[in-house]
Amino acid sequence: MFEGLSDKLSNILSSLTRRGALTEEDVNAALREVRRALLEADVALEVVRSFTDKVRARAVGAEVVKSVSPGQQVVKIVHDQLVEMLGSDAEVISLNAVPPVGILMVGLQGSGKTTTTAKIARRLKDRENRKVLMASLDTRRPAAQEQLAVLGKQVGVDTLPIVAGQSAVQIARRAMEAARLGGYDVVMLDTAGRVTVDEALMVEAAEVRAATNPHEVLLVADALTGQDAVNTARAFDQRLGVTGIVLTRMDGDARGGAALSMRAVTGKPIKLIGTGEKVDALEEFHPSRVANRILGMGDIVSLVERAAENFDAEKAQRMADKMRKGKFDLDDLRDQLAQMEKLGGLGGLMGMLPGVAKMKAQLESANLDDRIIKRQRAIIDSMTPAERRNPDILKASRKKRIASGSGVKVEDVNKLLKMHRQMADVMKMMGGGKGKGMAGALGKMFGI
Ligand code: GDP
Repeated sequence: MFEGLSDKLSNILSSLTRRGALTEEDVNAALREVRRALLEADVALEVVRSFTDKVRARAVGAEVVKSVSPGQQVVKIVHDQLVEMLGSDAEVISLNAVPPVGILMVGLQGSGKTTTTAKIARRLKDRENRKVLMASLDTRRPAAQEQLAVLGKQVGVDTLPIVAGQSAVQIARRAMEAARLGGYDVVMLDTAGRVTVDEALMVEAAEVRAATNPHEVLLVADALTGQDAVNTARAFDQRLGVTGIVLTRMDGDARGGAALSMRAVTGKPIKLIGTGEKVDALEEFHPSRVANRILGMGDIVSLVERAAENFDAEKAQRMADKMRKGKFDLDDLRDQLAQMEKLGGLGGLMGMLPGVAKMKAQLESANLDDRIIKRQRAIIDSMTPAERRNPDILKASRKKRIASGSGVKVEDVNKLLKMHRQMADVMKMMGGGKGKGMAGALGKMFGI
């Protein structure tokens, strides 16, 4: 999910962040490509149009933030706009009503409604300690009722016993009554689905709704069906008043359009997403996390903000001076490593830098994780101050001593020294204004 879109957007935006000053034409050209990428991902045209208009308006009128480049600022605006399009805050299922709280599940046949009913019941039972009763209202398909009973056993949630010949409304009423008598907190009503939206389906669901007054009406829609999922949601909402949406098959290779347009078109929040066939494959939908994933650029502005917060200004100045002069000793490297740890370790740091998602994967596969940062610091800590200032004096016997002092092999000491040399070279280059920024420096430093 989102991979194609994510690749495209991060390419478009990283070309912006590579430039110093941005002209309006740069922004417009980038937005044309953003527009194309969103349309290719099957996002509704009206949503794409409003998205790019809003980004343009904000980018043009934006105040220039100190220490952030205009390109980075555009990235932040695109990010914020994505979050807004997705609904800003994560919304969860509300149980804030007098028990038994009714949750009506509606949607087309095959959308994953019954599976999702069981997934939600399991979650409410396990995570919120609620006593849940499930009932299938599908009177036309006995198999559907049995399916729910089987799932109920699997997840350890009670299902209402089946009574032949009852209508959907009668079953729903019986479920609410049984829940009241049995001290249940939540009743999940799994309505019948149809292959397409039809009148009989809507009438029946509306009758159940009127008879039970559910606190939540959740529409289950299949993300793989793209814009059809959005149209289905709109139709159900108009007839039934939906309170939230569960998008299923988010584990599949949908282009993402349904997830992206759903909120903007229907005005209703995506509350949960289904990410597999298993009963635990259900996740909350967090707009900001999804936006980060789609952009694949990490949050550049938060990098700048966090770096500014954490960085000791004086130290930074000293470091900058040293870099300019091409002096970068092992004490400085040690500071840098400590700084990296503060910024959330290598993983955290890499995740925030533009264009390094791929590099991060390489680093991970090279097993360059945060333990390595710790080990490198331990190696430097085992050196004498003189050695740290002048690593050239480190010959075989000293290396051996350092290796045993820090519990590593001599080759690890050599690796660290090589990294330091490369880093010092890069620092010199950056100091001379020829660098490609931090991502380039890190890439060189780790030899990728
Ligand atoms: P219903 O007709 O709407 O009740 O649909 P079902 O709950 O019977 O689901 C139809 C099929 O979709 C079943 O094989 C489910 O296992 C599968 N399914 C449901 N949700 C998901 C999901 O999030 N991801 C995947 N991959 N499969 C799902």
